[in-house]
Amino acid sequence: MRFLDKLKEDKLNYFKANDKEEKVLNAHYFSSYKNTFVLKTGKYSGAYLFFIWMGKKVSDPQLIKHEYGHKLQRKRLGFIKYIGKVFIPSFICHRLWVKNKLPYSYYSLPWEYEADNLGGVKRENTELFTDKEKLRVKNLIKLFRNEGVK
Ligand SMILES: [Zn+2]
Repeated sequence: MRFLDKLKEDKLNYFKANDKEEKVLNAHYFSSYKNTFVLKTGKYSGAYLFFIWMGKKVSDPQLIKHEYGHKLQRKRLGFIKYIGKVFIPSFICHRLWVKNKLPYSYYSLPWEYEADNLGGVKRENTELFTDKEKLRVKNLIKLFRNEGVK
């Protein structure tokens, strides 16, 4: 299918209040989920900043729910706090995780765990961190900021 035809199809399927994850997975370039714009770009990952960014190769509906959970966090925290307490640490920890330098499951991180809960994701093998573990995550992020990770 050609680029313009794909765009037309997305436009035809676009429904702002859509709450079906499948519709987002099946879109080519853009969609909507619970009144949140979804831009499909990149490959396997997702993010929330202003709207949902969803990888084109994502096949797990849980990731859409999870990113929507981040939107609810942004609403709850406000933009500045969301950037400082969720977006930046999750970006850093994701890089550590990909490089096998994160000693925890990524989705066990407190803000990721919260996004799962808010978005309605049921995930196995994650548990909420204790305060001591939260401190260890903070130290890990400090280390990353001071030394960088290559
Ligand atoms: Zn997340």
